Amino acid sequence: MSKNQTACCPDCGSRISFKKFVMLNNFSATNCECCNARIEISNRDKNAIMAGISGFISAASIIMGPFIGERSIQSWQAGLLGGICFATILVLYICRYAYRNSELNRICST
Ligand SMILES: [Zn+2]
Repeated sequence: MSKNQTACCPDCGSRISFKKFVMLNNFSATNCECCNARIEISNRDKNAIMAGISGFISAASIIMGPFIGERSIQSWQAGLLGGICFATILVLYICRYAYRNSELNRICST
């Protein structure tokens, strides 16, 4: 069993899709596609810190983008676009990292 390599259902071991995992990060819990078990992330605090840092950096890059664009290529629009692209890539990268490193727990609803 390849535990913690990718996000897997702790109950039946089936892989949790990346899309589902992103939803799991934004909401509190999700259901397994195979066995319908309720799943949550057990190391949410670490993910919340990473999300906070990546959010701050991406916000900063969107704010700084127009300034850098204006100064380097005389186009704040292009700079803004670059900043948004950078922010998107960063957030996706952080999500992928969290996807591979998160520990999932089954919620016992009894
Ligand atoms: Zn399952």
